[in-house]
Amino acid sequence: STFDGDESGELRPRQTPGALYSKAAPTPVKSPTLLAWSEALAHELGIQRPKTQEEVDLLGGNNVTASMYPYAACYAGHQFGNWAGQLGDGRAITLGELKTTAGKTWELQLKGAGPTPYSRRADGRAVLRSSVREYLMSESMHYLGVPTTRALSLVATGDQVLRDMFYNGNAAHEPGAIVMRVAPSFLRFGNFELLAARKEADNLRKLTDWTIDRFYPHIQGEGDAKILAWFREVVERTASLMVDWLRVGFVHGVMNTDNMSILGLTIDYGPYSFLDDYDPDFTPNTTDLPVRRYAFGKQHSIAYWNLGCLASAIAPLLPDTVQLVAELEAYRDIFYPKYFAMMGDKLGLDEVKPEDTELITQLEETLAALKPDMTIFYQLLIDLPLSLADEKAVVKYFEPSLYGVPGEAESRALHNLIQTYIARVKENSCSRAESQVRMRQNNPRFILRNYLLHQAIEELEHGEDTLFVKLQQAIQNPYSREFDEFFAKRPDWASQKAGCSMLSCSS
Ligand code: AMP
Ligand code: MG
Ligand code: MG
Repeated sequence: STFDGDESGELRPRQTPGALYSKAAPTPVKSPTLLAWSEALAHELGIQRPKTQEEVDLLGGNNVTASMYPYAACYAGHQFGNWAGQLGDGRAITLGELKTTAGKTWELQLKGAGPTPYSRRADGRAVLRSSVREYLMSESMHYLGVPTTRALSLVATGDQVLRDMFYNGNAAHEPGAIVMRVAPSFLRFGNFELLAARKEADNLRKLTDWTIDRFYPHIQGEGDAKILAWFREVVERTASLMVDWLRVGFVHGVMNTDNMSILGLTIDYGPYSFLDDYDPDFTPNTTDLPVRRYAFGKQHSIAYWNLGCLASAIAPLLPDTVQLVAELEAYRDIFYPKYFAMMGDKLGLDEVKPEDTELITQLEETLAALKPDMTIFYQLLIDLPLSLADEKAVVKYFEPSLYGVPGEAESRALHNLIQTYIARVKENSCSRAESQVRMRQNNPRFILRNYLLHQAIEELEHGEDTLFVKLQQAIQNPYSREFDEFFAKRPDWASQKAGCSMLSCSS
């Protein structure tokens, strides 16, 4: 990772007490070339697809206009559970804010646009590989209905960037790229933590008030009550986000507090992955081994821990912490009902009754033991014949989702689960068709699998964009059958054991 050996001497980023950001101009690149453009987002922003080189130059950081105010934000954070001090945008530069005719404001940011005062010894650049991953996945999450930052454009820089390739450990030059990221705001928990750590109470209050007024304008009230109501909503949004990640099988991989959006968006696409085989212990991040702090099944607990860091940061704004702690502790009362409701939707239940939590637990345990392909398993479940009574027939039905031959215990567990499930579905007060519609709306059929990204990137590096273009289309309709050519298990060569699905932080 880029922050090895910091916190001493010259490896520290420039310390900027009193400042929430530093002015930072993008460093021009050799030859910006547009590789991808998000038409739907552009339309929402009221921006035309670039036609001239001058316009593409804007997206590569080569053309800064008088109306822009480029800066890098200053924030801190807890990384892997430890206080990491000041971090800041080391390779992201905000160009400014855009106000749409609909009255919505969007922050436009270039990621990979060159060094900032917060880059330390790193280069402030991003490689094509990581930029394609951020571009496609943030748009994919949007179409899945998961709150996220967006990506407007992907530009090849024409420059080479030096990186340690994750699969062989050797340093190699890779093509550079820049993504224009878009969000109402890129503020993180870490922005608040920074001001608390510096004991800048005035700035902390100003930032908090501004955040509420700007992004939570519906929160009324004054003083402490207002801050508490805001924190409650951050807790709620964060819990919802975790539920969405669990729903679609997304593992973020680096849930440090500097990667936690204050708006409850998915932010900072690094070594993320979708689950192929269902494994709650799966982490896509090599830096997270052997601890697996950020594994799929731990994300909702980590979110709570991260909210605790945010609570500590804003505590100085309140006379005492009694109510703040109560709001924090309410996380589990907010998360679990949302979680069970989501699972009820995935399973096509008319409602989640108290006894349904047993079915859901049974499902989780069975899936964790059987490790079927998560996406395919749920798709099969939608069309499950409710007459399926024999164990062999059940296993055979789910075979297209299995990565190996299940053992006796797993087969029996699957059979038991399916019988319990069939009995429960028959009790639904709604029709089977209605139940299936609900399942189709909540279970994606297309997911941006890691190996597909890997293949698309390899092709792009050789100047071939067929798969990349197809994936750009497929992500826009993830609940349909439109791209069933991708409806398949990941191939063996791409298994975690084959060392393919793991990525490190630095890219
Ligand atoms: P991340 O793990 O992506 O959240 O990054 C942690 C910190 O490292 C952030 O402050 C980033 O801005 C910084 N960083 C990551 N990659 C680079 C890079 N290539 N150049 C400069 N700073 C970087
Ligand atoms: Mg980050
Ligand atoms: Mg990152």
